[in-house]
Amino acid sequence: MTAARIITIDDLHQHVLDLAADLEIKWRDWRIEADTETRTVYLHPITSERAYASALHEIGHIRTGRFDDELTEERKAWEWARDNALVWTPTMQREADSCMRTYTTDVAHRAEYYYEEILAFLNDLYNGDTDGELIYDALVAHAVELAQAYEDYNSKEVRLVLIRLIDKHLAAYPPDLEARYKRAIQEIHAKHGMGVSQPSAGEQQ
Ligand SMILES: [Zn+2]
Repeated sequence: MTAARIITIDDLHQHVLDLAADLEIKWRDWRIEADTETRTVYLHPITSERAYASALHEIGHIRTGRFDDELTEERKAWEWARDNALVWTPTMQREADSCMRTYTTDVAHRAEYYYEEILAFLNDLYNGDTDGELIYDALVAHAVELAQAYEDYNSKEVRLVLIRLIDKHLAAYPPDLEARYKRAIQEIHAKHGMGVSQPSAGEQQ
């Protein structure tokens, strides 16, 4: 039988430093996160098993990379944490479980929120003065709310993000939009074997 060595909080702290040796670590008391672009992890000081588990999770985000959906990203990062931990205790597993739970509820809650926001937005558009400034007002008001709900930015930052996005979209705006639209319609009709000028009975189905 091998002698069990007691793992201390200092060991856990040192292990985080080792695992993140090639990354930048920024310690802070509020939200922890991983920035895959700058390869920076924002972590709570390792003073507990929970802090250790979530630190490994954030490092895991950088190691496992991005996936198409957020839930997969979260799951992969937790798997990485568990696989690379010095020790994985029930407390650490509880941290993982509770984070995944919040995350799934958050996603469901957010989807519902967006749905309601978009409905309200459409109502504003349809009931409003459809050729006046109300449309722009509704667009801006809802865009700010949505962006805030998504990232918890302050409104000044949201404004800047939106301005950047608008510039980006304006720059990418195709000058021949109408021609593109017609081409797209023709492609759809071609794919489904329908002539543009002679709608078939099948189109009604
Ligand atoms: Zn995460």
